[in-house]
Amino acid sequence: MIKYLPDRVSIVLEEIPDRVSVAVDITNCPENCPGCHSPFLREDIGEELTFERIDSLISDNFGVNCFLLLGEGRDHQALVRIGKYISEKYPGIAPALYSGRNQVEDDIWQVFDYVKLGPYVEKKGPLNERTTNQRLYHVHSVISAGAGGSAAIRRVKEDITPVIWRRKKD
Ligand code: SF4
Repeated sequence: MIKYLPDRVSIVLEEIPDRVSVAVDITNCPENCPGCHSPFLREDIGEELTFERIDSLISDNFGVNCFLLLGEGRDHQALVRIGKYISEKYPGIAPALYSGRNQVEDDIWQVFDYVKLGPYVEKKGPLNERTTNQRLYHVHSVISAGAGGSAAIRRVKEDITPVIWRRKKD
């Protein structure tokens, strides 16, 4: 089960470039970043992020074109199911994930169109600082010719972190 904090749902413009995102804070964070900016997200609090809740959040926020999970919780299979559900039911809405880990599994790259990697390191700053250790990837589907003339779909990661830096207001 993946839980989120209903009171903190927001619409954000800068976390994912060129996207209007409905952003949900995911709890049960398994990381332990020194200087964690939101320690309450490590607690087992909030409500389950069901498919019905996702439907409501999308219909209540007409015009969004990204669904951003801020954190990934502790239930990997449920997390992947959420990404798959959004990508299959809402082709115009990109599923996005902010992870606190340095690497994620292949099934996450398959279903999420944007993935942020890396723990928060206070002295290096967040994603929009040039000193950051974190990276944001846009994942594209590329169709190429496979064996015997069949088509094969590959997922290609593009590091778009510098786009965030260029748009930062100093
Ligand atoms: S990923 Fe790190 S900074 Fe974010 S909530 Fe978890 S411990 Fe805190």
